[in-house]
Amino acid sequence: MTPETARTDPRRRIPRTDALLADPALVEASTRHGSAVVRQAVRAAQEQARAGRIAPEEVAAAARAALPSSSTTLRPLLNATGVVVHTNIGRAPLSDAALQAVTAAAGYVDVEFDTATGARARRGRGTLAALRDAVPAAGDALVVNNGAAALVLATTALAAGREVVVSRGEMVEIGDGFRLPELIASTGARLREVGTTNRTRAADYAEAVGPDTGCILKVHPSNFRVEGFTGAASVEDLAPLGVPLVVDIGSGLLAPDPLLPDEPDATTTLLAGATIVTASGDKLLGGPQAGLLLGEADTVERLRRHPLARALRVDKLTLAALEATLRGPVPPVSAYLHADATALRARTERMAYALASADQPVDVVDVVGRVGGGGGPGVPLPGWALALPEGCAELLRTGEPGVVARVERHRCLVDLRCVPPEADGVLEEALRAALHGGR
Ligand SMILES: *Cc1c(COP(=O)(O)O)cnc(C)c1O
Repeated sequence: MTPETARTDPRRRIPRTDALLADPALVEASTRHGSAVVRQAVRAAQEQARAGRIAPEEVAAAARAALPSSSTTLRPLLNATGVVVHTNIGRAPLSDAALQAVTAAAGYVDVEFDTATGARARRGRGTLAALRDAVPAAGDALVVNNGAAALVLATTALAAGREVVVSRGEMVEIGDGFRLPELIASTGARLREVGTTNRTRAADYAEAVGPDTGCILKVHPSNFRVEGFTGAASVEDLAPLGVPLVVDIGSGLLAPDPLLPDEPDATTTLLAGATIVTASGDKLLGGPQAGLLLGEADTVERLRRHPLARALRVDKLTLAALEATLRGPVPPVSAYLHADATALRARTERMAYALASADQPVDVVDVVGRVGGGGGPGVPLPGWALALPEGCAELLRTGEPGVVARVERHRCLVDLRCVPPEADGVLEEALRAALHGGR
């Protein structure tokens, strides 16, 4: 390098790291994302300038542009699938009330502390009170990390080293990684299978119950239906057999919902004689991921005292979100499930009209939404969708914001059921961009 080129080499004008880090936008970004993330963006921008891809004057702007828009890599998505409880995209969206409760609980809180006496207090007592109020048929309640954890805790505490009596018709696999036989085996309890795949009678259970029985387990086969020559023993049939009866209802309905006549609920199941009901918090209940255990007070206390309960306990954010879901306004899951058909149609048609152009009309077609998430497998949710060209689906998924639609018969179907109405404007812009890109 001659002295002349050294003087004119544009790389000499690349701003130094400390000068860039003093940029007000980057200083502010450091407080939001941490300095490592900002330094990384600065280094990448300087590198681009050294490689001659950008001018030295553009380095600061390139560093700012390379900053993440959020502190988490989890991308918020709009759910245009029409599937209300969609496991791959986070099951239940939290209500605003639950969101505010999570924020309030994020700092120091009295989760296990009594401010009046300064002494230790029962962890999550407000949330447990909300659960007992929501299900008066339960003597007591306990919350763990998820539905699978609730079932593991119940069977471990009641039947480790002994037998769990289960119908062959309920040896189910519910979603990825939840196979009932494997789960029970992991607790150290032995499975005692009774009946057949399609029919199990109360007498089958009665014959199997003996001194070695830890509990009877009934599992709602929530993600499929058996039709034809079928039969199952009811909770009423099994309650008098004199051993603890654990019923996994799955979806977390606390009381009957006329829209879902085949979906068991905690109140009815407890009144029918179940000792313990287990359920998820983030399915039809519409709250955070959690496992609910509701039932007879002494048995719940036994589960609470089991060492495994400590390993499966939930954090303060979950307790806060769950309490707000139970006490607060109708959560999004219930709102979407019971969405008013006329209003849904009007929103869909309005959007189709706004998006249509002379050369490209946008059709509104009727579709069937789903409860999803292992709930109401046979329950159709009639609705409407915008039908776009198939290629729009990928553009929507990868756009900003990401929109997940459904592809059916070479069309990209956009169902507004699970899109909050206040997001209609944002969705419309995303659809417009995809329609332009997809042409
Ligand atoms: C969903 C489901 C589970 C698993 O619950 P998670 O909260 O996903 O752990 C267990 N049993 C039934 C019947 C279910 O529907």
